[in-house]
Order: sequence, then C-alpha cells, then structure tokens
Amino acid sequence: MIYLDTAASYSILPEVKVTLSDAFNTLYANSASSHLLGGQVSNEINKVREQLADQIGAYPSEIIFTSGATESNNIAFKSLLLGDEIPKDKKHIVTTQIEHKCVFAICDYLTSVGYEVTYVKPNKDGIIEAASIADAIRPDTALVSVMHVNNELGTINPISDIGKACFEAGVLFHSDAAQSFQKIDIDVDDLNVDVMSFSAHKIGGPKGIGAIYIRDLRKKHLMPVIHGAGQEEAIRGGTVAAPLIIGFGKAIETFPSYYERFKINNFKSYFLKHLKLNEIEYQLNGSELALESCISLTLPKTNTDVLVRDNEYELCLAQGSACSSKEIEPSHVLTAIGLDRELADHTFRISFSLDVTIENVDYLVAQIYKATY
Ligand SMILES: *Cc1c(COP(=O)(O)O)cnc(C)c1O
Repeated sequence: MIYLDTAASYSILPEVKVTLSDAFNTLYANSASSHLLGGQVSNEINKVREQLADQIGAYPSEIIFTSGATESNNIAFKSLLLGDEIPKDKKHIVTTQIEHKCVFAICDYLTSVGYEVTYVKPNKDGIIEAASIADAIRPDTALVSVMHVNNELGTINPISDIGKACFEAGVLFHSDAAQSFQKIDIDVDDLNVDVMSFSAHKIGGPKGIGAIYIRDLRKKHLMPVIHGAGQEEAIRGGTVAAPLIIGFGKAIETFPSYYERFKINNFKSYFLKHLKLNEIEYQLNGSELALESCISLTLPKTNTDVLVRDNEYELCLAQGSACSSKEIEPSHVLTAIGLDRELADHTFRISFSLDVTIENVDYLVAQIYKATY
C-alpha cells in the first residue's frame, strides 16, 4: 500500500512509538498529584510546553495542550469571543473560504448566537491576500482567523502581512498552523499572530493531542472550552494527557530532520516532470509557494474513477480533501479557487509520506497513464 495522504495524518514516527510506550509504562501518575511520581509527570509535560514554546518564539505560559487542532480552533474562537476579553459590541469575525471544515462549523455556531462572519475569498492561486483581509476588517471586528498552510492545496499564506494588518487595526489574529508546524519556520512575533493552533498527528505524533498558543494567556479572560478542575489555566479541564504530550514532544523534536531528508529528494518536481514526459495533461492547483509534500492535481483527461477503482488496494489518495471526499459536494477549497464540478471531480490531493520512494512515484505515474490512455 502506497500512502499518499499525510495531509490527513502521518504515521507515527518510530522514535515517537518508543517514547509513547515508555511514557504509558512509567509516567502513569496524574500530573496534578503532589507525590513524587505526579511531580515527575508534571515536569515532563512542562518540558514539552517549553520545547513547543521555544520552537515558535513564545513563553511556556502561553501554551495550552488540547486534543488537537479542532479543539484549539474551538478555543481560539469560542473561548476568546465568549469570554470577557473582547467588548460585547464587537460581533464580527473575518475568516476565509478555504479554512479547515471545523472553522466553518464553529462559525455556524457563532452565527447562531449573534455573530456575523465574513468569508474572504482566496486569489486564483489559493492564497489569501493581506489586502483582502484588511478590506474585510470593520470597526466591530473581534477576531481574524486565517490558516497558515492550506490542507488541500499545501499553499502558504502571507501570515506575517495579514498579522500586520490585524495589528494595525487592533484586531486579534488567529492562525491554524496544523499543516505548517515543523514544516516551515514559525515565530509568533515575526508572524504577528496572537493565537495559533497545532496538532501532533500532522507531524508523526499521536492522534488526540495538540496545542494552542495564546499571547499573554495569563492576562486574558477566556471562557473554558471544558469546565473542569483547573487544569491548563482552567481553560481545558480534564486530567492532562501526559503520555500523548510526551509523544508530541518527541514528534516536535524528530519530525524536522525526517522532513528535511524527504525534501532533498524533490519528489514533487520528479512527479510533475514524469507526468509531462508521459504527455499526461494536468493542472496544478494553488501557488508555487506551497509545501513540498503536498500537491493538488487536476487530471482533466484521466478517468479518475478507473484510477481509484483499479488501485483500491494499492494507493491511499485523497479526492478533494479527506474530510469532504465521502460527501457528494465538491471540496469548498477547489470551488473557492474557481474549479467547476467537472474539474473538481478530476482532482486529487497527493501528500507524500516521509518514506515515499522513486518507485512509488513511478507506480503512481504509470497508474495515472493507464487511466488516461
Ligand atoms: C488536520 C487539521 C485540523 C484538525 O486537526 P485535529 O488535530 O485532527 O483536530 C485542523 N486544521 C487543519 C489545517 C488541519 O490540517
């Protein structure tokens, strides 16, 4: 089986697997307990908090562990807006047409309780331009949220410029960094972000763990996303998932070197070159400014049903986006960049794993060729 769906989830890195197993075996105490073992667990958690903070130029006190980027995005919107942080007459949100689906679900909820949302359109390359965000900001805007890297196109948004526009307008700025973290450099000050979401399983860590960065967290008045016994600055109750956090820490430490080694191979350009050599017509969606690991490809002359059916047991490919592929509707991202239904149906997201080989890519090209001619 050739796995080409790492934008949906990476497999667990070998080092992370060992770390997880050790942590489950030895660090089983509750980090809130006052005895020796509780203290050790608490220490290990805080080491990862420091490690994550270091990676993004933040303070450990500005990091909360969550169950993943979905929960972090929920905190970014709901805990900020429904707490006492933002004046209650500010009920306008600016986000984009290409966010992860969870952002739309959160915004639908907020709309039902009186918020108004502007969904900014990307340019034809799938990039959210800072000027479009600046234009959408109003005096009553409470929050701007723009993802760092798009999960269907791999495109990288100009977060620093967008953050600057938000700063100048005095509006809080959140960015979902689930796809970018440890693949491109992040410094929360350089990027001018106030709030940022992370997920472990997008970098070879375990599923069910992630984090949120909130600038000056301890000075903010936020609504808990889970009311509990005071854990994680009383914003996210529940016994802290120590083994998962420790596994997340190992992924933060080890993923970048794997990713650097992967990038050296230039699989994306190899793949596209071989499509050309085989005279397979294709259209690359999104901008040149994109992750090396992610390709959104439209194959207008290829029988995509045949490609999928013939390779049911050989290829793990995402049609559109993993989250929307089982539905009848075409992907909202492809629609936002102007693809019609027909083209969207001929579109795949290919996201390479860290151990993909030239042979794997050759196989993919050969199968596309077979479904085209
Ligand atoms: C995967 C992903 C999410 C969801 O992350 P979970 O940790 O699975 O909740 C959110 N946003 C983006 C951009 C993603 O790629």
